[in-house]
Amino acid sequence: MLDPFGRNISYLRVSVTDRCDFRCVYCMSEHMTFLPKAELLTLEELERLCGAFIAKGVERIRITGGEPLVRKNVMWLFERLGSRLGAGGLQELTLTTNGSQLARFARELRSAGVKRINVSLDTRDPDRFREITRWGELNRVLGGIDAALEAGLSVKINTVALKDVNEGEIPSLMEWAHGLGMDFTLIETMPLGEIDGSRLDQYLPLSRVRATLGEHYTLSESDYRTGGPARYVRVEETGGRLGFITPLTHNFCESCNRVRLTCTGTLFMCLGQEDAADLRTPLRASDDDGALSSAIDAAIRRKPKGHDFIIDRRHQRPALARHMSLTGG
Ligand code: SAM
Repeated sequence: MLDPFGRNISYLRVSVTDRCDFRCVYCMSEHMTFLPKAELLTLEELERLCGAFIAKGVERIRITGGEPLVRKNVMWLFERLGSRLGAGGLQELTLTTNGSQLARFARELRSAGVKRINVSLDTRDPDRFREITRWGELNRVLGGIDAALEAGLSVKINTVALKDVNEGEIPSLMEWAHGLGMDFTLIETMPLGEIDGSRLDQYLPLSRVRATLGEHYTLSESDYRTGGPARYVRVEETGGRLGFITPLTHNFCESCNRVRLTCTGTLFMCLGQEDAADLRTPLRASDDDGALSSAIDAAIRRKPKGHDFIIDRRHQRPALARHMSLTGG
């Protein structure tokens, strides 16, 4: 699937639920209204949609949310998609999770064919963890990460860099992750959805973090890529990889290969734009995938060039009303 800018769209992110067992301060407000369950596509419908994308050239699928592992029976979807790995056309099946349910599901994920997962973790300090996630429990997540490593999954830790919150902890988080053989990636906070606090108070440009880290560590350029938006350096002192996802200080849209499907069958062609395509109607209109396939083609033809996130004093409103938990991180 080629978009109007010649980019090959080979990566689908699927948000299987907008619900989450955490309420991270930069992601959601404490009292979120979630979609009525009746509006959700069934797991069978999600599988069929994924199949239509694989048939059109999608090679990599990441299951996300909300918290994907709180969706009932989600392991069924992993097993079904896992059976398409290899000769079935899919090259990689991955997951982004907050880790709260990993102790329970790590082995099953591995046997379904998942090899790599991203775990979101912004701090290893139990009180700060509560402050950031509001509802989360650090020990459960750390236990989940241990279980994932034991199950043979390769784990990347994703950390949203938050000014004055976890800024000072970034070096020790990185050293901890690298010490356990995990990649470590920092993310800039994006202006998506209404939250209770101010984005400007949270926003920490990664250019600044990188400069500070560079005073204490030797950061060597690396051309390592995972197919996602992170750009990596190698940290010579730890031997580990450090990634930067910088939608604000350096937008990476020119190499975007992704589209995002929500749990209601809406396809967003860009995380940072409103335009979306309804795939639920063609999906439900017929058992044949013809109309669905045409709707996907039409959507890809409208994929925008990029987003234009800004966070500064004049732009404190969210760029988009929808939360990351709906579109899927
Ligand atoms: N619940 C799963 C998790 O925690 O990884 C998957 C969904 S979550 C929305 C995906 C990622 O998006 C997490 O790493 C989270 O920290 C990040 N995220 C959420 N809101 C964000 C925002 N406004 N800016 C940047 N990253 C955000």
